[in-house]
Amino acid sequence: MTRVLVVEDDPQLVRALVINMQARAYEVDTAPDGTTALGLAAERRPDVILLDLGLPDMDGVEVIRDVRRWARFPIIVLSARRGSQEMIVALDAGADDYITKPFSMDELLARLRAAVRRTGSAPHLGEREAVTTADFTVDLVARKAVRGDRDVRLTPTEWHLLEFLISNPGRLITQRQLLEEVWGLTYSNKTNYLRVYMAQLRRKLESDPSHPRYLITEPGMGYRFEP
Ligand code: CA
Repeated sequence: MTRVLVVEDDPQLVRALVINMQARAYEVDTAPDGTTALGLAAERRPDVILLDLGLPDMDGVEVIRDVRRWARFPIIVLSARRGSQEMIVALDAGADDYITKPFSMDELLARLRAAVRRTGSAPHLGEREAVTTADFTVDLVARKAVRGDRDVRLTPTEWHLLEFLISNPGRLITQRQLLEEVWGLTYSNKTNYLRVYMAQLRRKLESDPSHPRYLITEPGMGYRFEP
């Protein structure tokens, strides 16, 4: 059984979440503030945490940082629409995904299932050997990309970027994670590099580069590979 810890101070939302998740056989614990959340996280070892950022006793980001010192289970941030900066901070602190309030229960449950499937792994390289989509195939071992019947030539930097994204299918990778992975720590604010290289990758791989199907931009946040 999947155990979920809901950290949220809005009792109505908590009730709705609990009813919907229990109906789908999740085991649910709830915490109305950060202190309770940290205690329950340590005690109950949830499979995933749903975390509101605006808590009465502390910033949700503090909860993320604390949990990340000892655990890798997925954290999905529930955020009121207070701008993307807050979510970037949460993602950089170690959250795995975010959903903006108000959200549909179906979307939340889908994110929850996806997070549980990925079970807590940090973005990383090397798990997959090849990725095949309707439009292109990328062989990560042979370092070969094919679109239609033609080989696609990629530069080493384009490879590294593509490899990192497709090794984490469906997952939002922040601009900072990509920049630090591909260019290094000192480049973590060079988001213009990403725009340039993502445009190149789309030109080489997407059938309609201006309306990407696979290499998706999450405005202000980062990028996702949608398989
Ligand atoms: Ca709140």
